Order: sequence, then structure tokens, then C-alpha cells
Amino acid sequence: MSGPKNTALQAALTKIDQTVRDEADWGAPAQYIPQLAAIDPAQFAISVCLENGAEYSAGQSDTRFSIQSISKVFALIAALGRVGDALWNRVGREPSGTSFDSVILLESEKGRPRNPFVNAGAIVTTDALLSGREPRLALAEIIGIVRAMASDDDIHIDASVARSEKATGARNKALAHYLDSHGNLDSEPELTLGTYFHQCAIEMTTLQLARAGRGLAGFANAPSVLPLRRAKRINALMMTCGHYDGSGEFAFRVGLPGKSGVGGGLLVIAPGRASIGIWSPGLDHYGNSKAGTRAAALLSNAMRWSVF
Ligand code: GLU
Repeated sequence: MSGPKNTALQAALTKIDQTVRDEADWGAPAQYIPQLAAIDPAQFAISVCLENGAEYSAGQSDTRFSIQSISKVFALIAALGRVGDALWNRVGREPSGTSFDSVILLESEKGRPRNPFVNAGAIVTTDALLSGREPRLALAEIIGIVRAMASDDDIHIDASVARSEKATGARNKALAHYLDSHGNLDSEPELTLGTYFHQCAIEMTTLQLARAGRGLAGFANAPSVLPLRRAKRINALMMTCGHYDGSGEFAFRVGLPGKSGVGGGLLVIAPGRASIGIWSPGLDHYGNSKAGTRAAALLSNAMRWSVF
């Protein structure tokens, strides 16, 4: 049952949709994944879920997009569920200050990635989830968690995006083999990477994404997939590491935990208040959605949702 409608919130979303379309400062879609490079950047959607069950959207909120690195949040939830705190022996919890696919710190830090949201850390996280079983079972667990958190079984993987990334993903292959050389992969690099590329190719709408974030927002009525204590920790990682070397900038502008993906999606959490899904496929130079980040800042300001 949804609660009373918040007309100020709906008005803010409608205005933000209009503002980003008027500004038309879209950025460019990710170029290194051919399936994503072809997407028209002049697109925008935003959806918000509140604890009383009310839902709000503006723009193209029923268009599915590739969630890419936002999947790292759900894979982390799955991996922590499977191996618990032992995961932190293999991956750290510090911001990297480097780009999402950087190899620089792996050399000096002996194959232990800085955090689960840079690609190297996400590959290790997926490997922990995969260990000792077939990729389809690990993938079924990730997608099962996404569906449960979103209360929606109509969420799927676009295998053509996974194939597109596999064909061109030399950088991720290098990262996986480097991790393997340090003994930080349990499975063959190709198996772990195949699983990782498929999890990144999950497609969702902004409304499905906002619903999937309700547990992270700590809503009492969210599906009970994620204990509150774990939600707090994942929000902390999203705040400090969710936007790669643009994480400080995102915290400065938006003041909320968030996770971006190179498909142009953003999952933003206002703890105890709102779960927000945003999509606009053009990226800034960090690889984060340009209009999406602008929209998150406008919304946080309009609703006074910053945690600071
Ligand atoms: N699948 C992408 C990659 O590994 C995810 C990166 C992102 O969304 O930031 O390069």
C-alpha cells in the first residue's frame, strides 16, 4: 500500500527532468563497450521510492539500461552473504583515487584491490561468489538478490552487452590475470571475467533500480535481504568509493552515497529517506553519468537530503 503523495517531490523531479533536457550537457556514452557506444546520450530518467511506499518518476523511467558497475553493489551483498567478513582479506575498503579500471595500485599493493567498487575489487568479489561452483549459479544468486530487493522478477541480463564487453575487455582481462598472478583468484580468470561481464549486463529501469535500493535506504518494509548493519557499511563504501576518482566530487556535489555505472545509471541512497534511481547514458571524464550527477545534486538540494 503506498502512502500519501508528496507533490513537492513530484514537482522537483519534473523540474529536474526539464532542466537537464534544457541544459543538454549530456557527455558521451562509454566508448569501449560497442553496444553502449551506440546509445543516444540525450536521454534521462529519474525515480524515487519513499519509505511509505510512494513512488515518483520523471523522464524515461520505463526504459531499461545496462546497470554495469551498479551490479557491484548487489554482487558485494551476495559475496558478503556467502563468505562474510573473510572477503576483506582479499579486498580493501579504502578509496583508490584512481580510475575504475586502473592497474596502478595492484602492483604496489600486491594484488589486493583497494575496494570492491573499482574493477579489480569487483572481479575479486565476483570470484569469491563464484568459488567452487559454476558461473550460472553465481549469476543466479546475484540476479536473485536484485529481483528480491526490487520485488520484481522481470529483471534480466542482456547477453549481447556481456558478449560486446568480453570482445573488447582487454583491460579487465589484464586485471584478472594480474590478480591471478598474486593468488587472489580462486577460479580461472576467464570464468570469473565471464561471470563479471554478465553481472554488469543486468538491465533495469530507474524505477526498478530505486526499488532495489530500498533495503540500502533502511526502509522497514524493504524485502529482508540486507541486514541494517550491512546496509550501513555498503552505504559508507558507496559514499567513499562509489564513483572511482570522482567519489570526492560526487560527495561534494550531492552529499549522498551513490554508485555509478558506465551505462549511465546511478543508484543514490538518502538513508532513512529515499532510494533514487537515475539514468542518462552520457558520461563525464570519470566515467560517471554527467546529467545524472547533475540531477542527483539538484534533487539532494531541493529536498535537503544531504547527509551532511
Ligand atoms: N563492465 C564495466 C567494466 O568493467 C563496468 C565499469 C563501470 O560501470 O564503471 O569496465
